[in-house]
Amino acid sequence: MKDAQGVPSGLLKLLAIEKNLKGNHPRTSLIRNEVGVLSAGYHGENEMNYYLDMLMDEKLIALRNVRLSLMGKFFEIDLLILTPTFMLVTEVKNLTGVVLIDHRSGRMFQHINSKEKRYRDPILQVDSQAKQLEYFLKKKGVRFPPIHQLVVFVNRNVHFKGYDDQKLDDRIISAYKFPATFQEIKRDSSGVEVNWNIAYLAEMLESSIIPKDYKWLQYFELNYGDFEPGVKCAECSRKMFRDYKLKNWVCCGCGYASHWAFVESLKDFYLIFGDQITNRQARWWLGVESDSTTRRLLTKIGTEHIRRGKSSAFKMTFDFGNDFNYLRRRM
Ligand SMILES: [Zn+2]
Repeated sequence: MKDAQGVPSGLLKLLAIEKNLKGNHPRTSLIRNEVGVLSAGYHGENEMNYYLDMLMDEKLIALRNVRLSLMGKFFEIDLLILTPTFMLVTEVKNLTGVVLIDHRSGRMFQHINSKEKRYRDPILQVDSQAKQLEYFLKKKGVRFPPIHQLVVFVNRNVHFKGYDDQKLDDRIISAYKFPATFQEIKRDSSGVEVNWNIAYLAEMLESSIIPKDYKWLQYFELNYGDFEPGVKCAECSRKMFRDYKLKNWVCCGCGYASHWAFVESLKDFYLIFGDQITNRQARWWLGVESDSTTRRLLTKIGTEHIRRGKSSAFKMTFDFGNDFNYLRRRM
C-alpha cells in the first residue's frame, strides 16, 4: 500500500500568515476560518488513514488530493483508490453536528451551534468527479477498471441523515463502515475481467497531478505592511529580542531564550513570501540592525547567495515534509 502525507503546503503557508499577521488585522477572522476548513480536511484525511490501514492486506493503491486538469479546468478527488477490479472515488467529509442531505434539491445542510451551513449534495460531487475521471482516462487512451463512488463521513461527532425522511443514497457511509463497504464492492466486482495495469494507471495519474498553488497573499490582498515583523517566542508567541552579548534570542514575556529562534521566523518568511530574501528584508523581518549579523544568520541556515540583477539575495531551502512541524500546534 502506498502512502505519504504531511500537512499540505497550502495549510502551512496559511498558518504562517495567521501567526505573523498584525494584531487586530481586519482579515484575521476570514483567515482563521480558512485555516479551520483546511485543518478539518487534513484531519479528516488522517482519520481516513486509520480505516485504510485495516485494508493493509488488500492489493490497492491510494492516491490523495488527485487534482487533474481537464479541458482547461481542474477537478480534485480527495482519495482515489485503485484495485485490480475497481477504482473508488472517495470524498472525505469531516463535518460535525447534524447533517441533512436532500438528494431532491441537490443540497446538504449542516446544523451546528444553532447555525445552518449549506453545501452541495456530496453525491453530485462524487458523480461529477467520477465522470471527469472517466473522461480524463479515456482521453489518455488507457484501459481502466469500473469507477465506484463513496462519500465517507469521518467525524465521530456527526449525525447525518436524509432531509425530510428521504432515503439516503447507499454510497454515503460513516468511516466505521468503510472496510466492510470496500469488501462489498470488491465482492460485486469479482466477475470483472482484468485487462489493465493498475500500477501503470497509478503512476500515470500521479504524474498528472497538478498541486494547487495557493496564492494566499493575492487571495487575501495582503502585503508586507500587513505583517508584524520580529522573532516570535515558541512558548508564548510574544516578540523576542536579540541579546548581542550572549548571541541569544530572549523572550521579554516568558524569559525563554534560544540561539535558533530566528530560524522559525525565516521559515515563516519562506512560507509567506517565497524562498528568496534580501539582507534588507531579513533585517526588517528579524528585527536586526546589523548588516553583517544578518548575513551571518542567513549563512547559518545554509542559504545560497544568488544575484538578482544589480542586487543580491539569499535563497532558502526547506523541506515541506520535515521542517515545519512547529506550525502543527496552531492547527
Ligand atoms: Zn515567551
